Amino acid sequence: MSSSLDRLVEHRGRCLCGAVQFVARGAPRWVAHCHCDSCRRATSAPLATYAGFATEDVIWSGQARTRFSSSPGVERSFCARCGSPLSFAGERWPGEIHLFVASFENPASVSPEVHVHVGEQLSWLHLGDGLPRFATTPRDGPPLP
Ligand SMILES: [Zn+2]
Ligand SMILES: [Zn+2]
Repeated sequence: MSSSLDRLVEHRGRCLCGAVQFVARGAPRWVAHCHCDSCRRATSAPLATYAGFATEDVIWSGQARTRFSSSPGVERSFCARCGSPLSFAGERWPGEIHLFVASFENPASVSPEVHVHVGEQLSWLHLGDGLPRFATTPRDGPPLP
């Protein structure tokens, strides 16, 4: 859901060292916690929280990102200087780029809506936020009971 007011919103962000910066224009299309093994390894964290934007709505500045294809049709990027993960893009999501909410200047400015790939969630991670939980993604069926 977006309104004309959403177009006035922007989210600024950067890597840890500040060499790479971005501005994402408009409200994100969605915000989700991903529990998959690839995101876990890419971030060295138990889960990754993403916000999805149209690729053309994200303006990068500073040092160029380094890109890495973590699996066929998937491109991740990171800062070559400090190693911070910066984006995910995949053929399954054409025209879309997924940013890490934790790299925003104000990560609390957006609210996660769902958990995805909870089939791969770590057994010691206990979350009671009440958000819908999907074994894979909402495309592949209803949330878990
Ligand atoms: Zn950096
Ligand atoms: Zn993932």
